[in-house]
Amino acid sequence: MKACYPGTFDPITKGHLDIIERAASVFDELDVVLMVNPRKKCLFDAEERKQMIEESIASLGTLHNVKVVIGEGLTVDFARKTGAKAIVRGIRAVTDYEYELQQATANMMLAPDIETMFFIAKPEYSFLSSSVVKEIALNDGDISAMVPEDTVKEVMNAMAGKKDILKK
Ligand code: ADP
Repeated sequence: MKACYPGTFDPITKGHLDIIERAASVFDELDVVLMVNPRKKCLFDAEERKQMIEESIASLGTLHNVKVVIGEGLTVDFARKTGAKAIVRGIRAVTDYEYELQQATANMMLAPDIETMFFIAKPEYSFLSSSVVKEIALNDGDISAMVPEDTVKEVMNAMAGKKDILKK
């Protein structure tokens, strides 16, 4: 069975990567879908985010059934188009639950044939979000425990380049 894991991934964290690994071991095929939402302001553009995810996946060397794609519009439309039967999402804490429940219920109404399947965060990543990573990187903190190894430098470099713009 094929599944898709949609998200913003701005940038990918170790929490995301853990979900990707676990979902890849459950499903035959997994599309990590970098959802482009024009209303959402991102620090990294879609290509940069895609590249960071691809590098993180490649560095594990084992995820041969995972593909990274850029998507837009409704997740259920994307899933239908690509033949994915399940939508994978992660839940860190009760604070994620309400939002995820709303999304999953809306998707169920739009596409009853596609199931949303939740993976709970590993305890060590349950505090971890892309926003936390960006805040720490912006202030030159150590993000090495939070993002995949190969992306640490890219996030720090990108942050350094964008610091001036952000602080304006
Ligand atoms: P979105 O804007 O779609 O919420 P995110 O990139 O923030 O995109 O998250 C994508 C999915 O990954 C969401 O279901 C989110 O709950 C989950 N997620 C984010 N961080 C973690 C983490 N540290 N551990 C497990 N799941 C996570």
